[in-house]
Amino acid sequence: MNALYIVATPIGNLEDISKRALDVLQKADIIAAEDTRHSARLCQYFNISTPLTPYHDHSNEQQTQRLIERLAQGQNVALISDAGTPLISDPGYRLVKTARDAGYKVIPIPGACALVAALSASGLPSDRFSFEGFLPAKTGARAAKLDALAKDPRTLIFYESPHRIEDSIRAMGDAFGALREVVLAREISKTFETFIASTFAELETIFATDANQLKGEMVVMVHGYLEPQSDTPGISADAEKIMTVLLAELP
Ligand code: SAM
Repeated sequence: MNALYIVATPIGNLEDISKRALDVLQKADIIAAEDTRHSARLCQYFNISTPLTPYHDHSNEQQTQRLIERLAQGQNVALISDAGTPLISDPGYRLVKTARDAGYKVIPIPGACALVAALSASGLPSDRFSFEGFLPAKTGARAAKLDALAKDPRTLIFYESPHRIEDSIRAMGDAFGALREVVLAREISKTFETFIASTFAELETIFATDANQLKGEMVVMVHGYLEPQSDTPGISADAEKIMTVLLAELP
């Protein structure tokens, strides 16, 4: 039976693609890609000659329907995004939902995903976590979202871009407390891969002294909220907020 294949591609190092993914991409009748020019380079690198067609979630309904028609004709369709696993902060939801609702087989081809790679090497609790994707761009909406997460006991994972990282880290420090543990994973699987484990206060200092730490692709992971223990010394979120204000006043 033919299917819609959801194929993970590398997030940096091109060797991070499975043999099965290459096989599916080679044998598919069409590859639906977020950015066909970007994906053409990947296909060229692996000698994959399957035709590419654009697909993104903002695309009109026609694009989804054209791919569904191909499934109806018995063809195999592969969906890829620019990097990592499709649908994870990337296009594909509408296509997968429509294909499933219409009774077609949807098969994932697992592989790289920045949030999983980052969490697996972060040293933060990984038994429970919440992936929050990108924070809202507007200051008020971002603060509201962070405030709603401040007492979440799970590890929190965010995607972020270089031009917003400083503002986001400052806003997170305000919402979660300057002393909350944070891990910044940058450029995973690439030449300048870096993991920084620190507090929000320390991370702001690192940014101020080393602009390189603001560059590239990054995942921000935050330790979940810990209830202050009455029998052990702990710092409440309120106390942390006071510390944040005091730290900002220090020369
Ligand atoms: N679908 C992708 C996945 O499976 O991870 C995510 C796509 S999303 C549009 C792009 C974001 O993922 C980047 O802004 C960054 O936050 C994160 N990311 C992607 N590649 C990364 C890498 N090599 N190192 C760190 N973060 C990365």
